[in-house]
Amino acid sequence: MEDPSKKNLSFFESVQSNFDKAAKLTRFDDGILEQIKTCDSILKIKFPVKIAGKLEVIEAYRVQHSHHQSPCKGGIRFSMEVDQEEVMALAALMTYKCAIVNVPFGGGKGGVKIDSKKYAVEDLEKITRRYTAELCKKNFIGPGIDVPAPDYGTSSREMSWIMDTYASLNPNDIDAQACVTGKPISQGGVNGRTEATGLGVFFGVREACSFKEDMDKLGLTTGIEGKRVIVQGLGNVGYHTAKYFEEAGAILVGLIEYDGAIYNEQGLDLNAVQAHRQITGGILNFPEAVNYVNPAEGLELPCDILIPAALESVVHKENADKIQAKIIGEAANGPLTAEADVILNRKGVLVIPDIYLNAGGVTVSYFEWLKNLSHVKYGRLEKRFSENMYQELIGIIETTTGRKVSELERKTVLRGPEEVDLVHSGLEDTMIDSYNELREIYNTVEGVEDLRTAAFYCAINKVGITYEQRGIFP
Ligand code: NAD
Repeated sequence: MEDPSKKNLSFFESVQSNFDKAAKLTRFDDGILEQIKTCDSILKIKFPVKIAGKLEVIEAYRVQHSHHQSPCKGGIRFSMEVDQEEVMALAALMTYKCAIVNVPFGGGKGGVKIDSKKYAVEDLEKITRRYTAELCKKNFIGPGIDVPAPDYGTSSREMSWIMDTYASLNPNDIDAQACVTGKPISQGGVNGRTEATGLGVFFGVREACSFKEDMDKLGLTTGIEGKRVIVQGLGNVGYHTAKYFEEAGAILVGLIEYDGAIYNEQGLDLNAVQAHRQITGGILNFPEAVNYVNPAEGLELPCDILIPAALESVVHKENADKIQAKIIGEAANGPLTAEADVILNRKGVLVIPDIYLNAGGVTVSYFEWLKNLSHVKYGRLEKRFSENMYQELIGIIETTTGRKVSELERKTVLRGPEEVDLVHSGLEDTMIDSYNELREIYNTVEGVEDLRTAAFYCAINKVGITYEQRGIFP
């Protein structure tokens, strides 16, 4: 087989190459594999928007990679790098991601080719609403059809505009809120969605670090405490990932943004860096940290865990050999090219793949979608009931033991679950179970040489079984 470390593959080709590597280890015939791999529907649109009195033509996409489950699900990205291949690659990753974490959706992704920093908020609203209207016209959005979410360059604000536009154009759809996830809480969002991807990344890496034999191979101890971490990208995913690592006792030695990188082996205080960024407009010149004007250099600095959480293909065949991290947690989608992957695997680096590690966002989006369809907040029915039960239990314990429970103990035990507790616990369970499933494949299936191949193998099996058992209509 041709060695992918010798070629320069595009993001889309990298995804396809990873798929092919795992597909040949599965038992499915070529027809089923081709159907799993292909993008089912691709929408490319251009639409006019009036910006400051002048007409601008915007290019945008929505790709539905797989209809083996409904609806399709995946974020919407606002970036100048958006093109059809990028959106196709991201949509494909969504299919595999949902399968790995047992979320019953097909993969989808959207992209609008704009530099959001160049537009006023009102203009971004116009673009988002017009894009949504185009999706409605083409039947590419709806609670049972295709459900977008935030991604690079978008947040709960854009999701709110999308929901409002869809609801206005579909006034009889009682489930209109479920047409998009990642909304503000007041608009039907779920508590815990904002931090979900970053928290999922943390749970996933923590689980990987809990196996002594795996850590021994890397020359590391188990656990997160004391591990030196570098995070690239301090947006939604990167910021929350960094925050949970810091809270768990890891040392944030390096942070990378588009204006440069900063490094301090004693550790950087995340909130102090954010405050510095707010005041100065960038992360450079943070007290007692070393500056790197070229942000890419930050990836090559000494650390135990590297978390790329910005964009794809940031580790490639030119810099892969210089990476010093022993563990790479792919928080972004596709941060390693297939060539880099080969080089890092040869070096013995543990790469925790994107299609598992950043699935926390879609997992909690699934919880949000279920909440919207059921029209009730999580915990509403059982919270008071649980608290009353715990109260009774405490009473029984106090009478039988003759000891009065302290106020602190009472407060800890008495609390019935809030929505955010249920969401975090569902997410933690998902990330732990899925990691163990992938690790089991990696350790037992012949030919599976890394966690990424294990993840693709796992996804192909789950999607393949659906096609096999349901058959194909007509
Ligand atoms: P975001 O827009 O909130 O943040 C991205 C950050 O990366 C920004 O702070 C930006 O300034 C920074 N950045 C841009 N170029 C950089 C560079 N060259 N070096 C360093 N930093 C740079 O986006 P996000 O939602 O955090 O998404 C980040 C990645 O995570 C993307 O690959 C996205 O597809 C993936 N992802 C996001 C979610 C989600 O729930 N938001 C879920 C799964 C995967």
